[in-house]
Amino acid sequence: MGSLARDHSDPELLGFLKELLEGGSLDRKCEKITRALLEQGPHSLSAEDRVVIEAEVIEPYLADCESCGITPAWQQMLHVYDTGLCAACFDRLEGKQVPTVRPDWMPLVAIDTEDDELSASDDVAVLTPHSS
Ligand SMILES: [Zn+2]
Repeated sequence: MGSLARDHSDPELLGFLKELLEGGSLDRKCEKITRALLEQGPHSLSAEDRVVIEAEVIEPYLADCESCGITPAWQQMLHVYDTGLCAACFDRLEGKQVPTVRPDWMPLVAIDTEDDELSASDDVAVLTPHSS
């Protein structure tokens, strides 16, 4: 990625930076520069500030989806950073509680929660009178 060519006025990138800023995980220096970029635009940044934005604000949070390998859009970047998965993979994998590794070799313990749910609904089925 040619990071020096990155467009610091890209509204999607700015949205990502705003989210980062509001998340409170930036140090004071980065926070100050990021705030200046958001409030006054890229032209308010010195060349040095831009290097800090790239190296200390943006780069540490760049993440590719661990499952499908896509580089997410800025709106999804923090989600991928936090979970390791893009939204589509997160829904597909976490939503159905399927392990990210193919389960062929996995011991039964790995599907413990699913087992609990099954036995719970078994109990319900036993207690529920059959209507037909
Ligand atoms: Zn994915």
